[in-house]
Amino acid sequence: MVQGNHTGGHNGHGRGAADDLPRAAEVVVIGGGVQGASVAFQLAKRGVRDVTLLERRQLGAGATGKSGALVRAHYTNVPEARLTLESLRVFRNWDQEIGAGSPGFAPIGFLKIVTPEDEAALRANVADQQAIGVETGVVTAEEAREIEPLMRTDDFAVAAYEPNSGYADPNATLFGFVEAAAVRGVRIGTGTEATAILRDGGAVVGVETTRGRIATRTVVLAGGAWANRLLAPLGVDLGLVPRTARVTVFRRPPGVDPIRRHRAVIDSINRSWFRPEGATGTLIGVEGTGGPADPDNYDEGVDATVIERCRNALAARFPAYAGATMRGGWSGMVMESPDSHPIVDQIPSVPGLFVMTGDSGSSFKTAPAIGICLAEWITGGAAKLVDLTPFRATRFAEGSPWHDEHAYGDRKARLTVSR
Ligand SMILES: Cc1cc2nc3c(=O)[nH]c(=O)nc-3n(C[C@H](O)[C@H](O)[C@H](O)COP(=O)(O)OP(=O)(O)OC[C@H]3O[C@@H](n4cnc5c(N)ncnc54)[C@H](O)[C@@H]3O)c2cc1C
Repeated sequence: MVQGNHTGGHNGHGRGAADDLPRAAEVVVIGGGVQGASVAFQLAKRGVRDVTLLERRQLGAGATGKSGALVRAHYTNVPEARLTLESLRVFRNWDQEIGAGSPGFAPIGFLKIVTPEDEAALRANVADQQAIGVETGVVTAEEAREIEPLMRTDDFAVAAYEPNSGYADPNATLFGFVEAAAVRGVRIGTGTEATAILRDGGAVVGVETTRGRIATRTVVLAGGAWANRLLAPLGVDLGLVPRTARVTVFRRPPGVDPIRRHRAVIDSINRSWFRPEGATGTLIGVEGTGGPADPDNYDEGVDATVIERCRNALAARFPAYAGATMRGGWSGMVMESPDSHPIVDQIPSVPGLFVMTGDSGSSFKTAPAIGICLAEWITGGAAKLVDLTPFRATRFAEGSPWHDEHAYGDRKARLTVSR
């Protein structure tokens, strides 16, 4: 590995010598989050011998390190459900698929709760997901109560239940990809910022970095909330907006079963999502607690208002948590696309530039499949695992942004919550 800051080595803060960065690479991946690491590994797995991954700070410095990392296939559209389904296969078969580390995948079961008005939409979405092979079903409120006894169930009629979904450890997932990539020869340059994507006649010819220039014809930009800085000088405006996403952790209160771990839940009624954190905690995020921000100058903590909103939303679904002790919280940066769905594409005006951007706060779970798709595209000319057409960058310019047929009230209101 070629590193400024080592992934696990002795040089915790300093930069490596400028001459240890390669002068040329077959592919340069920009961004040491889960997306960059996933595609770097998949490229190496497909025999691309010369891959360099650049990370301006440390691995997981962006959204990935702060992620709630819910892994569920319930979406209001098939393309994202498909990406999750393929990613679930990777999370479940990590040793065979990735072969290093462990994603800490916890298949504790997942419930999606919607308002009674959204029952028809939920049934339609579950049917779509079943049709592509997702393990999911519609359960009544009474059945949901049996599945999750902590739950208040008098304000909804039906929920979607995925018995084998749950959440993962976002940093362990990232580190697993990185370790597996490094074993296959990927160079990981932490403490190394890409400052410009270089072109000749429109096409990519290299990357300028804080440690020198790397010649390459292929760049994958997975720069999370920082992507605009490299895209803007190329004249690429995808309408991306960096936003904060916030979570709070509460301690399991006395009287709640200390052995059983509760399910992961997305609660559209209280506009929240939550899942167990460690042995005793619950990690919760609430819609509308984040907003546009400068990714290099934002408060990484949470204030009293966020904590109160999280506590109220948690107690509204799990009444036993009304007096739960607050244990901490943090804010991370995600990149919102104009239609709140990711953009995974080769930028038409910049041949050789592939992007995974506009994660919109829900692209941890899909990273394993997106990495495979991009690696297939770069090495074989097309993504085979999942059709990426719906994720194309040109959909905004075409005037056909994403449209979910069976959107719920929360999505219709165009508010998003990272989960
Ligand atoms: C609080 C929170 C909760 C979330 N919950 C969930 C959830 O439950 N489920 C889910 O699926 N998703 C969730 N998400 C979203 C998910 O974490 C992100 O979609 C995902 O981590 C994005 O990964 P990424 O690799 O694209 O970006 P990032 O993790 O942001 O990585 C981008 C990296 O690129 C680096 N970088 C940027 N520019 C440069 C440059 N010029 N040179 C070198 N390096 C650069 C950055 O430092 C950063 O480390 C959540 C996010 C947050 C913040």
